[in-house]
Amino acid sequence: MLVKCPECGNSVSTLAASCPHCGAPLSVTESDTSAPKYHVPPPRPAATSAVPLQPPTGNKGIIAAGYICAFISLLLFPPGFGIAGLALGIIVLTKGNTGHGIAITVLSVTCGFFGVLWGSGAFS
Ligand SMILES: [Zn+2]
Repeated sequence: MLVKCPECGNSVSTLAASCPHCGAPLSVTESDTSAPKYHVPPPRPAATSAVPLQPPTGNKGIIAAGYICAFISLLLFPPGFGIAGLALGIIVLTKGNTGHGIAITVLSVTCGFFGVLWGSGAFS
């Protein structure tokens, strides 16, 4: 294996104790200057390959129903529609549509919570 001499830049064998061109010592500078640096590529996110980029079209009805339940829970029977929206959100989540699933779940809990407050007369 050939390396470049740090002094003159000529190719020198790693087995040589000193540079044959300029006489600079090589073995000392090469052995213990620094630990060998291995280029480790950053780990690729495995989630991107597992989750389809295009959400399956079959989930659109469930997603729409989830949002509708979440919004209805604000006005009408919040425990029922809130829990229904929450369940639909979890179903959407399990089907791999993380964005809508989380949105529906959070929306259902939030709307259900405020729906209960509204229904109990907290705002009147
Ligand atoms: Zn040299």
